[in-house]
Amino acid sequence: MEIHSSNKHTCGECGLQLNSRVTLNRHMLVHSDVMSHKCDYCGREFKRAKTLKAHLILHSGLKPYSCDFCDRTFANGANCRTHKKKSHPEELAAQEASGEKQFTKNIPKLAVLKTVTRSAENLVPVVSKQSGNFSSGEKPKPRLKAELQPQPQAQQQQNSVFH
Ligand SMILES: [Zn+2]
Ligand SMILES: [Zn+2]
Ligand SMILES: [Zn+2]
Repeated sequence: MEIHSSNKHTCGECGLQLNSRVTLNRHMLVHSDVMSHKCDYCGREFKRAKTLKAHLILHSGLKPYSCDFCDRTFANGANCRTHKKKSHPEELAAQEASGEKQFTKNIPKLAVLKTVTRSAENLVPVVSKQSGNFSSGEKPKPRLKAELQPQPQAQQQQNSVFH
């Protein structure tokens, strides 16, 4: 029995084996508390450039994520996706079927965002709200006639199934 683990790089934290030192180092960020990406504006630190980027977008007030189907724009890619799912389910399905992905085309580079947040004076302080309940602000569509003449056996199957 010979187990050559010498060319494997094992994570001391979780035991995951990685093929190279580089990938191991990258993986170790998951466990480390090193926040290597810092917001110059409010000083908050992040482990990942991606997270910092989303954070800087919030500061900048930019809404680089635009709906492909209407004029709405979003600061947050997830919100944009949620909007599309809700408001344009058919168009979104068609777009996904065509393999088009338009999410990232308008997103400024991190370096650009950094200069924006350094120079801009009317930046938005980011309130710490981790998982926003934005979607709960959804208003039920007013039902026109149904509300005027309430019926005892109103068929309320309007609630479409969300998943
Ligand atoms: Zn690990
Ligand atoms: Zn910040
Ligand atoms: Zn839209």
